[in-house]
Amino acid sequence: MSNVNSRIIIHADLNSFFATAEQQANPALRTKPVGVVKARGRSCIIAASVEAKKYGVGTGSRTYDAKKLCPDIILVPADFAKYEYISRRFIEICASYSPLCEAFSLDECFIDVTETEKFWGNAFNIAFDIKERLRKEVGDYMTCSVGISHNRLLAKLASEQIKPDGLFWITEDNMLEVLDRSKLTDVCGLGFGLWRRLALLGIDSFSDLRACKIEFLYKHFGPFWSVHLYNTARGIDESAVVPIEKIPQAKSVGRTYTTHRLLNNKLEIYKVLRNLCEEAAEKARAMKLCGRYVAFCLRTSPRSWSAKDQNSGEARSWYGHKTLARYIDSGRELFGVCQQIGAEWQLKDVIFCGVTLGMLTRSDWQTIPIFKADRKRACLTSSVDFINKRYGNYTVFPGQLLGMPIVMPEVTGFFGDRKYRLADFKVTDSPV
Ligand SMILES: [Mg+2]
Repeated sequence: MSNVNSRIIIHADLNSFFATAEQQANPALRTKPVGVVKARGRSCIIAASVEAKKYGVGTGSRTYDAKKLCPDIILVPADFAKYEYISRRFIEICASYSPLCEAFSLDECFIDVTETEKFWGNAFNIAFDIKERLRKEVGDYMTCSVGISHNRLLAKLASEQIKPDGLFWITEDNMLEVLDRSKLTDVCGLGFGLWRRLALLGIDSFSDLRACKIEFLYKHFGPFWSVHLYNTARGIDESAVVPIEKIPQAKSVGRTYTTHRLLNNKLEIYKVLRNLCEEAAEKARAMKLCGRYVAFCLRTSPRSWSAKDQNSGEARSWYGHKTLARYIDSGRELFGVCQQIGAEWQLKDVIFCGVTLGMLTRSDWQTIPIFKADRKRACLTSSVDFINKRYGNYTVFPGQLLGMPIVMPEVTGFFGDRKYRLADFKVTDSPV
């Protein structure tokens, strides 16, 4: 591998992705403030267009507040199939500049062009090429901001400097200047929890952080974070760009869901749970994995607690987990274990439900079932997966889901299970 300081890393980031995708598909929405909501009637905005952002509307704004800030905002229900399609096209473009292309989230790619930039002259040409191809091949309204630098940390920070449709290069010379005008939370990996702990120590900027001795950071943040903070403040990051096929297999798969309304009876709650188990298990199977750790979590609404209750005014959660003796990969079995975990819980006024299958291992390392009934069931499951993959999610589904609106899979901005999302993704147009 080449010297880490002489690398050239590009970070390309689609601008206001979900909202711009809607404006691309429907020209009537262009130049107008648009907010994408998960579904009609949902109260939270998951993406805002460039125009809506000018009014202060952003990801996570409540629709009620968004309408107050911007009365003309047009709310559009999310269409995840559309976003996934555009995302794949975008990743395909990025991956054509280097075999070292990492899809970091649906709308972000890191590309290590150290060895390949010469084919386009330099990294600037690649940046312009990406922008042009995005408009030509994906849609004339799509834009991306591109950052260039000698590592991932700074390339990402560079792409955030100018939005939309920006281009920025962070070099050794302007690196500290850019870091010092950035907020600590602008940098990937420094989350809110860490920010709060730093703030309590009076550290509010990267220059404050550079003034701290490593021993001081070690005392307060331990061996991992002390080094991470020390390096970040100096713009040092030696992490490699990892192409999707080299990303290690997932350690767990799961699905969480916040309901539209309070779920008050056990049957309703179990139906949603069964639905989430089906999706989590399907994800595991798509990655050819099975697991033997199951976690199940429910949360109730704060509104549902009466004044005389001690917990009045607070949301309450139930959480439980179980480690099994054998590996499972079916929604039916996962549901069965969750039912055991939650057998004693008070299932009332539920607003949130989550399920996780962990301790994953490869399915082809498992022994073939000895009983005919189990083999038949495995056969049935793989046929169902085949049909659903071909004709769409939940074309065939368990009878337990009858009589309820099915909760469909959803793509989140950052995909924890990238390997699953991109299972069928192949780079077809590699330059080298
Ligand atoms: Mg973006």
